[in-house]
Amino acid sequence: MDYIEAAKRAVKGIASPVLDFCGVYDTLIERRLFVQPSWVILMYHRVVASRAEDPHRLGMCVERDHFAEQIEYHVRNFSPICMGDAISRLNAGKPLPRNAVSITFDDGYQDFADVALPVLRRFQCPATVFVNVGGLAENRPFWWDEIIDAVHRTRVDEIDVRFLNADASPAQLPLRSRHRRRTLMRLQFMFWQLRPERIDDALAELKQRLQVSGRGRLLAPRMSPAEIARVAGEGVEIGAHCESHVDMRRLSDDECRHELMVSRQVLQEISGQPVTGFAYPGGLQSERVQKLVAHAGYGYAAGIGRGVNRQPFDIYNLRRIGMPDSGISDYKRCLGMAAGVSEPVMGYESVLWP
Ligand SMILES: [Zn+2]
Repeated sequence: MDYIEAAKRAVKGIASPVLDFCGVYDTLIERRLFVQPSWVILMYHRVVASRAEDPHRLGMCVERDHFAEQIEYHVRNFSPICMGDAISRLNAGKPLPRNAVSITFDDGYQDFADVALPVLRRFQCPATVFVNVGGLAENRPFWWDEIIDAVHRTRVDEIDVRFLNADASPAQLPLRSRHRRRTLMRLQFMFWQLRPERIDDALAELKQRLQVSGRGRLLAPRMSPAEIARVAGEGVEIGAHCESHVDMRRLSDDECRHELMVSRQVLQEISGQPVTGFAYPGGLQSERVQKLVAHAGYGYAAGIGRGVNRQPFDIYNLRRIGMPDSGISDYKRCLGMAAGVSEPVMGYESVLWP
């Protein structure tokens, strides 16, 4: 972790509990969230048993104890409802329960089944997992995890990134430990600019330049088809999240249609359930992509624009709040901040809070 990030965490670690103890965050949430009907949709990716699984703190992981506090808080203060059930109620002309909250997970990591689901079960909290199906049958790691793992293991001091973008500036990115987090964010951003057919070659080139081979410990496992079927059988809603996890705005209409059709077909076969929900990879979409999702027959789609949903709901661009890996007081600070957002704040799926 870089020093600035460590300092920020230390300040938040002291200030947030004090402000929470004084009731500041409860008042903020009361005023911003509970005064009018709202639908809060939380976005998670990974819930990890130990911080060692997330050494670079890129905003994709929440520790189990923090997650349990966050879910307990929502079960006590909100009305948890599964995404699909919420949409069915709206389609039937019924209102959502008061202070509705839905819990969602993107990508389909194994730690959802191993770490998050037992917590959700303990609090009887429903959830939706948007599963990416590219490489699922072969148990291939996600491309961003390959980047994290390779950068984590390299002994090279810097990398020339012009193979990803000829105009990259700076062309050299530093790799010594205190720079790694920032370099990882830049590399991931550059990979997001690639079309799907370039990702594999770019990963191979990256590993060669970093002089890394094999699989390291940061390649987070994904749920297997059997595991997806098991969690679906336990009542978890399965939603689609494309086949190739790329910026859909860079795909043609036909390519988008293919992604939308294949991912739903595969997940319906695996889960034995209808798949009606969708989450845009990276939250990246446009009006054109939204229309394609609707025409493909999905009943709703979740973006990553940070904020709270209010009537009339934007069903094909539902806002979600990516929750921080922090204890309940700092979590409430972020929830209060998100509730005050009028225009959604866009970013990639990673969750980084000021
Ligand atoms: Zn994703």
